[in-house]
Amino acid sequence: MLGLFKSAKTAQPQYDLLINGETRATKSYDLICSPFDLSPVGQMAVASMGDLNDAVAAAKDAFPGWAATSDEDRQAACGQIAKIFEDNLPDLSELITKEQGKPAAGGGGFNSQFEVGGCAAWAGATASLAIEDKVLVETPEVRAIQTSVPLGVVGSITPWNWPVLIAVWHMLPAIRAGNTVVIKPSPLTPLATARAVELMQQALPPGVVNLVTGGGEIGAAMAQHPDIAKIMFTGSTATGQKVMQAASATVKRLTLELGGNDAAIILPGAPVEHMLPGLFFGSFVNAGQTCGAIKRIYAPDNMYDSVVEALAGFAAQQKTGDGLDPDTMIGPLQNKAQWTKVKTMVADAIAAGARIATGHEQVGKGYALTPAIIADATQDMALVADEQFGPALPIVKYSTVEDAIAMANGTEYGLCASVWGADKDEIDAVAAKLEAGTVYENTHAELHPMVPFGGHKSSGLGVQFGQEGLASFTNTKVIYERLAPPGTAG
Ligand code: NAD
Repeated sequence: MLGLFKSAKTAQPQYDLLINGETRATKSYDLICSPFDLSPVGQMAVASMGDLNDAVAAAKDAFPGWAATSDEDRQAACGQIAKIFEDNLPDLSELITKEQGKPAAGGGGFNSQFEVGGCAAWAGATASLAIEDKVLVETPEVRAIQTSVPLGVVGSITPWNWPVLIAVWHMLPAIRAGNTVVIKPSPLTPLATARAVELMQQALPPGVVNLVTGGGEIGAAMAQHPDIAKIMFTGSTATGQKVMQAASATVKRLTLELGGNDAAIILPGAPVEHMLPGLFFGSFVNAGQTCGAIKRIYAPDNMYDSVVEALAGFAAQQKTGDGLDPDTMIGPLQNKAQWTKVKTMVADAIAAGARIATGHEQVGKGYALTPAIIADATQDMALVADEQFGPALPIVKYSTVEDAIAMANGTEYGLCASVWGADKDEIDAVAAKLEAGTVYENTHAELHPMVPFGGHKSSGLGVQFGQEGLASFTNTKVIYERLAPPGTAG
C-alpha cells in the first residue's frame, strides 16, 4: 500500500484503499498536508461509489465465516491487533502527528504516542470482554435464554481529531462481536487510519475490515446502504442528525458520538492553584479539539480574577508549535475551516465585551494558535453557547452555584461536565444536577476502556466501551423454550 505516487511533482507516500484484504489504487488522490507548516505528508486514494459497494460486498461475504469463528479466536485476533499497535507505535504516532498535528510526545500526556498506546490498550481490553448467554427464566415449565448475535456489516465513520483511536473504538468491538467492517475516515486525516487498517490485516481474514475514503457523499451512502446493518458514527451533531435520518429507511442500528460543550464548574474555595494542570489540559487536550474537553469554565465572582490570572499564567508557559518538536505542548488546529471558526468566535466574543487574558497568537505558517484564556465571557456568546473545538477557553463569572448549574446545563449538549472543589459532599450535590453522560470530579477528559462513554441530549445516542459498548454491536436473540404444558409441571 505504501508506495511512491509517481504522477506528483514531488513524490509523496501513497496510501490506497483496502478491500477484501487487498490494497486498491484509484484514479484520483488527495494531497494531505501538515496543519502546522502546510508541507505535504502523503497522498490518499479517493474512493468512488463503486469502491464503496465493493467494500460492502467484501464485508458481507466475509461476515458468515467471521461470525462462525469461535469467541476465543476473535479474542485472540483482538489481542494480536493490540500487539500490532504496540510494535508499530513510533511510525504510526509520527504519521498521526504529521497529518493531524497533535504533539508526538508533549501535550500534557495527550499526544500521538498516547493515541497509539490507547489503540493497543483498547484492543487488549476489548479482547478481555466476555460475550455470554444469560438464563433469564428457568422454571419446570419454561426456560428463556438471552443470547447475543452479531449484526452483519458495520459502517464506521470517523472524524479528524483522534483519527486512529476513534477508528479502534469503532472497529475492535465490532469484530470482537463477530461483525465485519467498512471504515471511512475523515478526508482530512485518512493516512494513519489507512496504515492501521493495513497492519490489522495481519490478524484478520480478508474482508473482515475494509477501508474506503471520501467525504460526506460516501458517508451518506453508507448511512443508506441496504447491506450495512449498523453505523458507528463519531463527528458533529449536525452530521449525526443527517446520519440518523438517512439510516431510518433501513432501520439501521446506530451509535452516535457527537459534539460536546463541556462545562467545568469551579466551586467557591476550590484550591485552583493545585488544579491548574487538570483544568488546563482538560481544556486544551489536542489544542481543544476533543469532544470531551472542557469548553467553558464557570468561576465564582469572588475568585474570578484569580482563576483567570492563574490559568492565563499557566497557559502562557506552554509551548505552541510543531508537534514533531518534543517540547511542543500545544499543536495546531487541524484544518483551515476549524481555524476560521475559532478565530471568528473569539473576534465575536471580543466585540461583545470579552477580553483575551493571554494567547490567540499564530505560530508558524499553518493553523497553530497559542492557547487563549478569554475573560469576561458571557453565556450568550457563541464561544460559550456553541462548541468552539479549539484552543480558546472562555471563563464565565457566576454568583450562586445554582446559577452556574443552570448555565452549565443551558445548552443542547450533554457529553461531559466537571465539578472542581474541596468538599466532597458539595461536589457530589452539584454533580448530581449536571446533565451529561460523564460527570468528572476534580478531573476532566479521562477515559477508560471498561467505563461506558456517551452523550446525553444532542451529544449522542448509545454508549461505547465496556460490556455495554460491546453489546451495542449485537442483536439480542432469545431462545424461549416450553418444557412442559402450562399448569402441568411442579
Ligand atoms: P463531521 O461531522 O464534519 O465529520 C465526521 C465524519 O462524517 C467525517 O468522516 C465526514 O466525512 C463524515 N460525513 C460528513 N457528512 C456526512 C454525511 N452527510 N453522512 C455521513 N457521514 C458524513 O465532524 P468532524 O469535524 O470530522 O469532527 C469534529 C466533531 O466530532 C466535533 O463536533 C466533535 O465534538 C465530534 N466528536 C465527538 C466525539 C464523541 O465521542 N462524542 C469524539 C470526537 C469528535
